[in-house]
Amino acid sequence: MQNTRLGDKGNAIESKSEELSSDMDRLILALTPKGFQSFGEGASHGRIVGATALAVDNAMNHLIARLIPELQQHLNSLVGNNFGPIINADLAKAITRLLRRLGPWALECPHCKGPAVLRFSHSSERTNGIFRYEHSPSKRHGASTVLGPLRIIPIQSDVTNA
Ligand SMILES: [Zn+2]
Repeated sequence: MQNTRLGDKGNAIESKSEELSSDMDRLILALTPKGFQSFGEGASHGRIVGATALAVDNAMNHLIARLIPELQQHLNSLVGNNFGPIINADLAKAITRLLRRLGPWALECPHCKGPAVLRFSHSSERTNGIFRYEHSPSKRHGASTVLGPLRIIPIQSDVTNA
């Protein structure tokens, strides 16, 4: 099958679902004897197990990477908002949990560009509390009463290579 990417919307959707099924093919191949054989005739059992695990992880990362643009669009729509201390806290936790669940993804800290998680803490000075980008329990950047940039970035640079 030819890899055509035409401007037409119908074709774009078709090609998107073709890409999705080729990622699924990749995942399924990693779970078959045929996939194991592709890791090399006569390779040691340990090596095949390792290569299979890596192939499954890579296939899952490819599948998950497809969700990121839509998720990013939604996060962008939240920037600049303050929903009050209770929702702010829940939202920061939900975003952090979701990115952890998806795998090697984090938010880009707009101050140092490193991977961070969004934290919200109640503050006595500011009634609604503040959002921060946390790199570690002792390293946090920013202090804003509204949601700042929420750019999703891969934690390992090779995740989105395809
Ligand atoms: Zn930072």
